[in-house]
Amino acid sequence: MDRRKFLKIFGCGTVATASVLTGCKSKTENSAVEEYKQQVEPPVGKMTYRTNPISGDKVSLLGYGMMRLPSKTENKDDYDQDMINRQVDYAIEHGVNYFDTSPVYCQGKSEGCTGIALSRHKRSEYFVATKLSNFHPSTQSREASIQMYRNSMKELQVDYIDYYLLHSVGGGTEEFNRRYIDNGILDFLMKEREAGRIRNLGFSFHGYKSVFDEILAMNDKYHWDFVQIELNYLDWDFANEINSRNVDASYLYNELQKYHIPAVIMEPLLGGRLANLPQYLATELKTRNPERSVASWAFRYAGTPQGVLTVLSGMTYMEHLKDNLLSYCPLQPLTKAEQQYLEHDVAERIVGLENIPCNDCKYCMPCPYGVDIPAIFIHYNKCKNEGLLPHDRGDKEYQEQRRAYLIGQDRKVPKLRQADHCIGCGQCEPHCPQNIHIPRELRKISDFVEALRQDTLTRPQETEAK
Ligand code: SF4
Ligand code: SF4
Repeated sequence: MDRRKFLKIFGCGTVATASVLTGCKSKTENSAVEEYKQQVEPPVGKMTYRTNPISGDKVSLLGYGMMRLPSKTENKDDYDQDMINRQVDYAIEHGVNYFDTSPVYCQGKSEGCTGIALSRHKRSEYFVATKLSNFHPSTQSREASIQMYRNSMKELQVDYIDYYLLHSVGGGTEEFNRRYIDNGILDFLMKEREAGRIRNLGFSFHGYKSVFDEILAMNDKYHWDFVQIELNYLDWDFANEINSRNVDASYLYNELQKYHIPAVIMEPLLGGRLANLPQYLATELKTRNPERSVASWAFRYAGTPQGVLTVLSGMTYMEHLKDNLLSYCPLQPLTKAEQQYLEHDVAERIVGLENIPCNDCKYCMPCPYGVDIPAIFIHYNKCKNEGLLPHDRGDKEYQEQRRAYLIGQDRKVPKLRQADHCIGCGQCEPHCPQNIHIPRELRKISDFVEALRQDTLTRPQETEAK
């Protein structure tokens, strides 16, 4: 593996690369190198399974999220079908049997790539989940929604869907009614379930607590077979504190338990944020368990509650897949003390960092003006977490940090896609499940970067993008 790919895989490309260019090799890079060298092959036949209490499906605790597929080149929609096939084969060989996609993932190409990879296996070897992603008004009529549903079957090359979700509900009752009730589509999906073409019907949730309560209370009528929620050790108690629109995972999970509805977990790593912790936190976790990756703590956390059916992970590279398999082949449940350590000691310190809470879901993309929103936020957060964010041109380390920030940004985000190309049209903002004020944050970062370029950054001008 070449160095460029290695850095990409371990998500330390921005800061680490820049710091190498400035003659300073970061600790993050060193620990990632060690982690890669030490990676062992996951065992076959050891996957932990959970039984869906409603359908009886025996589902692998690791679910494959097909939303961050590998591409052949830096061009992100140039998807590498051979590699996708290989990774899907490897996952199935190691016991993974749940694959989650959507018509909108990977610029609309995920379902097709998933269908090609899975259709090479016996239909009984896998469960496939996809979604009614009728976000755009042009897809919300009954006819357009039914067409989206039928097209999913065609792309996936299946004549039934195992797990079908109303995609990302939670924005409001009005929106829910418009997308699913007024057009009669939920009644249609119920009939499809009765006919066996949908085996399990549920919804994925991001948004307001009142909407979650309301939709869950519809269980009497719709009999939700599963619900997909965001759960990780940061969101367990702090989701609402970080963003008042979000609901703590502890509440969501416990409500589902009351209804005996199994939980499918998304964002166990919060878009990679819990794998790329600040160095002092990563070191602390590695000291507690030197054999395992930092990410494995988050996977063990998400997989420990018994009401969890499967934990989705968007695994772009084989190394991600192997590392996640190690966490669940078999699962070593966390002890109560370990759970509390993550939920309190670790989570509280992460909250204190005040990052932009972007989890790289890409729901805000594409920006009509070409801005790569998540890449900009991720670079900013990484520099901040590593303590490499320049603050004042009078600081001793300022010039080195300034150079590292700008070089790292140019490597990760092409110039035409950087924050200064945001015109503030606001089209992206309603799509963000984290409720980030995207144009405002981009403007702050743009001002910050401009001050770095002009070499005029001083502490009173310091721009905290939060
Ligand atoms: S507000 Fe900025 S980033 Fe968002 S869609 Fe408009 S130009 Fe793109
Ligand atoms: S800004 Fe929001 S929508 Fe865009 S990638 Fe980040 S979390 Fe997702």
